Amino acid sequence: MRLLLAEDDDMIARALVTALGSEGFSVDRVASGELALEALRGGGHGVALLDLGLPELDGFEVLASARRERIETPIIVVTARDALDARIHGLDLGADDYVVKPFEISELSARIRAVLRRRAGKAVSRLEAGEVAVDLATHSVSYRGTEAVLPNREFALVQALVERPGMIFSRDRLEEKLYGWGEEVESNAIDVLIHYVRKRFDKDVIRNVRGAGWMIPR
Ligand code: CA
Repeated sequence: MRLLLAEDDDMIARALVTALGSEGFSVDRVASGELALEALRGGGHGVALLDLGLPELDGFEVLASARRERIETPIIVVTARDALDARIHGLDLGADDYVVKPFEISELSARIRAVLRRRAGKAVSRLEAGEVAVDLATHSVSYRGTEAVLPNREFALVQALVERPGMIFSRDRLEEKLYGWGEEVESNAIDVLIHYVRKRFDKDVIRNVRGAGWMIPR
């Protein structure tokens, strides 16, 4: 899953990119409010993490503009501003959650999962499509009696398909969901991931729709 990180402090940003990377997220980072809004307009991010103290546009302005423009990317405000009125203002402007620095990466990660679950209309960390079930907390996938914990990228692929059962994803769409900006993507990267997932379970776990892409049926 790709995350957008809007954070102007280089040290914090680098630490977060590394820590979230080891939690299985690929992170696109921007350092100003203007660029954050532009990236949100571009779409493709599962969740955006938004600092409030940003140059050009501050986080509240980014949040307000994004929601005014009907951009629906889930947004978690991540800030040192812990005043009650700031938290209330952030949530009322359309933030999905509000995390106060300093925080443990495991908590941020759990909050990201919680936001994704709520957006998917689920109260638990388990998502299902047809015979495929995924657990967002453990990265385990089960299919017809076989259960396995998948490496990050394979898990992200299955998660993307399970979140939208029956929807056909093109190669471009999957690459956009799985890889961050500037990441080298081999032309057969998606095929390789699909090959590995099928090898673990069965060929039918991911359906091929000729000329269109791939899907997991309802
Ligand atoms: Ca800042």
